[in-house]
Amino acid sequence: MNGLSNTTATPNPHFILIPLMAQGHMIPMVDMACLLAAGGAVVSFITTPVNAARIRPFISRIQASSLAIRFVELRFPSAEAGLPLGCENLDLLPDSKFNKPFVEALPLLGNQLELQLGKQIPIPDCIISDTKHAWAGSIARKLLIPHIIFHGPSCFYLHSTLSIKRHKILDGIRDEYEKFVLPDLPQRIEMTKAQVERWVDSPTWEKLRDECYAAEEAADGIVINTFEELEPWCVEMYRKATGKKVWPIGPLSLYNMEIESRAIRGNEVPAMEAEKLQRWLDEREKGSVVFISFGSLARNPIAQLTEIGCGLEAAGARFIWVVKEAEVKSGTEAEKWMEGFEDRSAKDKKGIVIRGWAPQMVVLSHPAVGGFMTHCGWNSILEAICAGVPMATWPHFADQFLNESLVVDVLGIGVAVGAVVPVKPADEERKEAVVGREKVEKAVVSLMDEGEEGEERRRRAREFGEKARNAMEEGGSSCQNLKGVIKYVSDRKNKINLI
Ligand code: UDP
Repeated sequence: MNGLSNTTATPNPHFILIPLMAQGHMIPMVDMACLLAAGGAVVSFITTPVNAARIRPFISRIQASSLAIRFVELRFPSAEAGLPLGCENLDLLPDSKFNKPFVEALPLLGNQLELQLGKQIPIPDCIISDTKHAWAGSIARKLLIPHIIFHGPSCFYLHSTLSIKRHKILDGIRDEYEKFVLPDLPQRIEMTKAQVERWVDSPTWEKLRDECYAAEEAADGIVINTFEELEPWCVEMYRKATGKKVWPIGPLSLYNMEIESRAIRGNEVPAMEAEKLQRWLDEREKGSVVFISFGSLARNPIAQLTEIGCGLEAAGARFIWVVKEAEVKSGTEAEKWMEGFEDRSAKDKKGIVIRGWAPQMVVLSHPAVGGFMTHCGWNSILEAICAGVPMATWPHFADQFLNESLVVDVLGIGVAVGAVVPVKPADEERKEAVVGREKVEKAVVSLMDEGEEGEERRRRAREFGEKARNAMEEGGSSCQNLKGVIKYVSDRKNKINLI
């Protein structure tokens, strides 16, 4: 990489970006790196060998461009933390028992980063780290540079969880399925303790959560993958509540306007080539296909897969459905059932099942796609918004139930499938969490409804899509905020140079 040998000698601020090693956190941070570099910054992007290999074509594309981004591959401390070799990403953990060592590996990665500072990595002018890297702030403080936190989820989620914490709302709730009203919101929205907190169910996660809050309090600012026009009052209230500089700089996915970068985003080889999917979609009517995908972590057991499949058949919908390799392992009952389902769907020309990684942005932005059944991961929601596609919401865990509320109750661009019980990635066998085929059918029919209600949802989704694009364009709110981040760091750098 050119021009990175000594940043103190260049006028361009040098950012180190440290993502959490999980697809939903790394993908937007790669986009952020591109946007910062396009805005004149120099970026060192921290990754690990396995994670870098997964996005090799994307890295090559960036390296062939003029963007000043260096991908720094640090060894992931799997062995020290007790992780199987190669488990360098949350979606590669074979079992939930590895969550603890994975979380414990994160600060060890910090030790490696420190060893490389001034060697493989020039001393930076700012560190932007995923909120889960609570250790990163102390490195920034030693270097006397700003530390900015990157939050992946919606601002609605950030504001709500902070308010719940400050009002100690959950302390008084015994029954985790008793509904409570979210505090500090202009509209009445109910949640259950299970929906907002079930994932923080072990001392490991609790400790990490507390460390993250402390790191956030000490940080200089916060960048969020959202845009002001989508959730304006949340952004304002969150600014007030944290007392920090809060820069909404998204939707970051809009950096990828070209089909080539959309097709190779996130994973080296999509399970089905983008062109093949394009061709299949080209033959369908506008807005006639439902896309079904549950992100990179949520895994459905056989009992749930069959309910989804039967629900889709009953709704008579055309579809593209993404299932994970781990859900239909070879030789299992799930694989056998899926083969039969795929044969029927192909014969009736109803739909395609993608096994493995799908080029999600390519699918969502095709005009034939008229609805998205999603697990409510924030990236997926933003990608649907950018494409102007309404959603059938099916949250599983973490921020997803709150994201669902934002989409359905606040923005009016989604219909709820009706999931009530949270289900974690490796919690597949929770029988009570299985959502029945009737609910799937009803949600799909309602999502694709051509009546007044469906049309209004589509209109609103298109409107937010336009606002999202405007926010990222020159002069738009997110574009200005991104410039604000670069300016803030440049000003701090110049001040230090003057002293
Ligand atoms: N994604 C994809 N193909 C897949 C699964 C996921 O491209 O088969 C991308 C998706 O477009 C999004 C990210 O992976 O950018 C998933 O992030 P999200 O926040 O939606 O969910 P998570 O995986 O974190 O639960």
